[in-house]
Amino acid sequence: MEDYPRNLAEFEARFSTEAACREYLVRLRWPDGFRCPRCGGRKDWPVRGLLRQCAGCGYQSSVTAGTIFQDTRKPLTVWFRAMWAVTSQKNGASAIGLQRVLGLGSYDTAWTWLHKLRRAMVRPGRDRLSGRVEVDETYWGSGEKGVRGRQTESKALIVIAAQEDGAGVGRIRMRRIPDASAESLMPFIEEAIEPGSVVHTDGWIGYDPLKRKGYPSPRHISNATKGIGVGVAAASPSGGVSAEAMAAGYAPRCGQPGAPGLLPGRVHLPLQSTKFA
Ligand SMILES: [Zn+2]
Repeated sequence: MEDYPRNLAEFEARFSTEAACREYLVRLRWPDGFRCPRCGGRKDWPVRGLLRQCAGCGYQSSVTAGTIFQDTRKPLTVWFRAMWAVTSQKNGASAIGLQRVLGLGSYDTAWTWLHKLRRAMVRPGRDRLSGRVEVDETYWGSGEKGVRGRQTESKALIVIAAQEDGAGVGRIRMRRIPDASAESLMPFIEEAIEPGSVVHTDGWIGYDPLKRKGYPSPRHISNATKGIGVGVAAASPSGGVSAEAMAAGYAPRCGQPGAPGLLPGRVHLPLQSTKFA
């Protein structure tokens, strides 16, 4: 994406037509030239719209297959404008702003687009959380009788990192982990959080390496009965976690009433379902 435009004027000049947007996607998709996904053939011709046909085997591949543009009925120019709107604003775009910029009829559509774009634009290691970040684990799944705390047999253990954003919660990252050991927790933290960020945890031993890894971590000694209660309002067409599922599975063993930086009510950010894989 090195040749992505640097300002609005460049952007407008560059992506004013469907053909220009398509050409850009083609270059992203096949930076070294076309390659047939079926036979590996290198010769192709455009069929119509976003399709390319392999000269060898006749297989038609779409430029947008597997991207957020797949199956879209909106022009690529509109999508590109949306990407520009979302990426060019320091504080991120709002759904209402996107609706205005794109002239979309419905707020719901703008909201869906915004979250689709945000999900698509997060790249591992390139968009790490920073500032003050709360990290905790939670179980995802049905209740298990007689099992407490971090022991579990059948439920999935999820680690969540949530960035503080004023009085609320900003971006979040999550991942399924096999257990709550430092070996499982630290790789996630290092990939999800910028070093130097202040990481709040409940002081579990699995977080002991934090300081050594460059994350200042004030220790919470807590026996609070009230959990953090992250309700995740997720809109994830590809199978996210519902607010109820997350809330129900949340292990009520951490959190420190009155301490700044603990997670309040609800998080209105998209989950990155790929990170569950
Ligand atoms: Zn082929």
